[in-house]
Amino acid sequence: MNPGARIVILGKQGAGKGTQAVRLSRHYVVPHVSTGDTFRAAVRSGSEFGHKARKFLDAGELVPDEIVIGMVRERLTRDDTTHRGFILDGFPRTVPQAEDLMQLLQPTGVDLVINIEIDTSSVLRRLASRRVCSDCGANYSVGDNPPRVRGICDVCGGEVVQRDDDTESAIRRRLELYERETAPLIEWFEARGLLATLEGTGSPDEVTDRLVSEVDRRKQRALPGC
Ligand code: ADP
Ligand code: ZN
Repeated sequence: MNPGARIVILGKQGAGKGTQAVRLSRHYVVPHVSTGDTFRAAVRSGSEFGHKARKFLDAGELVPDEIVIGMVRERLTRDDTTHRGFILDGFPRTVPQAEDLMQLLQPTGVDLVINIEIDTSSVLRRLASRRVCSDCGANYSVGDNPPRVRGICDVCGGEVVQRDDDTESAIRRRLELYERETAPLIEWFEARGLLATLEGTGSPDEVTDRLVSEVDRRKQRALPGC
């Protein structure tokens, strides 16, 4: 047996990272670690940390590396993630974050970095219809995946809202930063033999199937004696 999974998900805003990360975390029974969700929870809690984070989030700017890295380091050194693994969503987003992550995860590293690919016109369409649970972070779409009861989360009963940073200017800024800071990570992980690029088009179920078969293939290959 080869339980758990240690997976990083990369992809443009609206590629379906969050949706797929939740599904993979259920499939492999490992925690979903989302830096975006953690920051949004901090903002809602009204803490001083949340107050600081908010100005970056609302403007679509990246939170400074040292803040994010400290937060992720704390989360990935807890027992559940060190034993079973994690689905990392929204981190790393810059090369210094990736370097820090690989160092932190030594000697086991990650099983796979999945790059969910999607064209920019689909991204803009998806972001405009995206809604999110303000309590548990579940993702919905007013078009093809609305909550069963309007405005109420299927999973936890929380309020389903549009994200504060899903405004035109913040979206533009996030996509710009993705190209500049995050896209270089695709080559960075590729060079280390860790990357799989998969299509983000199709229904969420189709995408999940695609992701799970790739992860299982890699895990199989990594088994001793195979
Ligand atoms: P999206 O991928 O749609 O931009 P996320 O939920 O992943 O959404 O992130 C939302 C915001 O949280 C980012 O725009 C940024 O301000 C902050 N953030 C999340 N992860 C990171 C990170 N690894 N480094 C810096 N900032 C981050
Ligand atoms: Zn919810």
